[in-house]
Amino acid sequence: MSYSFTHNTLISQQLESLIRKLHAFVGNALTRNRYIVFGAGSTQILNAAAYALSPVNTSQSPTRVVASVPYYSLYKDQVEYFNSERFKFDGDAYTWRNRSDARPSTNVIEFVTSPNNPDGQLNRAIVDGTNVKTIFDRAYYWPHFTPIPAPADEDLMVFTLSKLTGHAGSRFGWAVVKDESVFNRMVTHMQLNSIGVSRDTQLRAFKLLKAVLEEGTGIFDFAYRTMKTRWERLAATLLLSNRFSLQKFNPQYCHFYNEIRDFSPAYAWVKCEREEDKDCYAVLKAANIIGRRGNVFGSEDRYVRLSLVRSQDDFDILIHRLQKEVSEEDGARIM
Ligand code: PMP
Repeated sequence: MSYSFTHNTLISQQLESLIRKLHAFVGNALTRNRYIVFGAGSTQILNAAAYALSPVNTSQSPTRVVASVPYYSLYKDQVEYFNSERFKFDGDAYTWRNRSDARPSTNVIEFVTSPNNPDGQLNRAIVDGTNVKTIFDRAYYWPHFTPIPAPADEDLMVFTLSKLTGHAGSRFGWAVVKDESVFNRMVTHMQLNSIGVSRDTQLRAFKLLKAVLEEGTGIFDFAYRTMKTRWERLAATLLLSNRFSLQKFNPQYCHFYNEIRDFSPAYAWVKCEREEDKDCYAVLKAANIIGRRGNVFGSEDRYVRLSLVRSQDDFDILIHRLQKEVSEEDGARIM
């Protein structure tokens, strides 16, 4: 098996056209007159995008990479690890906007995660200006996690199989890109980084997306029901608590389901409300519940992220342990 497909490309044309069909069916992204790049998960795509959007000329000061708190930590970790002269991580997008060294001439890349990891909100870009480029991480922009108010229409949008079908281990992600020169730079990055995505993975992704499309709304209905039921069970459990609270959502119109829908997020962004519970991770750990600390997301340790996309058994155990913890609270609200 050679590296490339016919026409000397590293991208399967059949898979690419299936991805365009899927976005058209779900209505979550516009793909017409846009380019598509594949990556080993969206992790590789995010990195390619950061390279493609930062100026090649390293005599300029490095591009500042920002994301609004709470943010998905990989953006920071990648930029710091690759330690390129081309960019450096510069923290919270809100703080950046008000900083005195934020000049209009400074090159900025903002990562916008929408829905956000960890809190599930439909984030918007915070920083704007002629030298600001935005990477929209749309990993969770599928109808099982969020209402789809409109098809995403941004210059650079990133998607992944991991949060669509759950096949995180297959390592397949893609970007939908408006600008041809950005697309070409991402393709070059992929060629130099890994000579493209494994053709076996592309075949696997093709089979999976074909099955998704053949089922009509079936797979989305199933995934939405699963996530919604989990969210409702979690919310009902924490409603009885004075100690822990959950993020709130305003329902929105969903163009996929043609009705107003609630969010059914992939993660719970739990806050410990008691003054003394400054380390919420430790509080939950003592109850044998392992989350991810708030400071990993640039936030306070009063917050912890709990995953709701693990197995059903894991989720049932999580609820069981939370119920026990809440029932032992002083002054817990009794149903
Ligand atoms: N973006 C976001 C917001 C994520 O939550 C994740 C996975 N946790 C990724 C990207 C990376 O996923 P993958 O490389 O599996 O596509």
